[in-house]
Amino acid sequence: MSRERHIHQNNSFSFICSNCGRTVVPSESGGYQRNHCPDCLWSLHVDLRTGDRRCGCRGRMEPITVWVKESGEWAIVHRCISCGFLRTNRIAADDSEQILYALAAKPLKALPFGAEKSMEILNEF
Ligand SMILES: [Zn+2]
Ligand SMILES: [Zn+2]
Repeated sequence: MSRERHIHQNNSFSFICSNCGRTVVPSESGGYQRNHCPDCLWSLHVDLRTGDRRCGCRGRMEPITVWVKESGEWAIVHRCISCGFLRTNRIAADDSEQILYALAAKPLKALPFGAEKSMEILNEF
């Protein structure tokens, strides 16, 4: 499969999600390149730098957590299951809110200490 097949004139591209099989089309709101599936949030390791499609790894990238920037903007942290590369990606308006929420809640559902301790900490805020 040639890389060129995926590239449209404006340099955005559509792809088939390697995780759920959905066809992901470029974001209609435009402005930035969509690089993950809005349904399951999985991505592909295809970039050396965001958007350049120059990485040959092509591993599937799992959304492992969310990162809230100082500005309050949310980003997804993706980890390549083939090579372990970590990357952050801006969320898109149509990303699954349910999955974003589940990502944010995941560490809280698997605390390395007991629920009692977490209540103690919460009360200190
Ligand atoms: Zn998907
Ligand atoms: Zn990789």
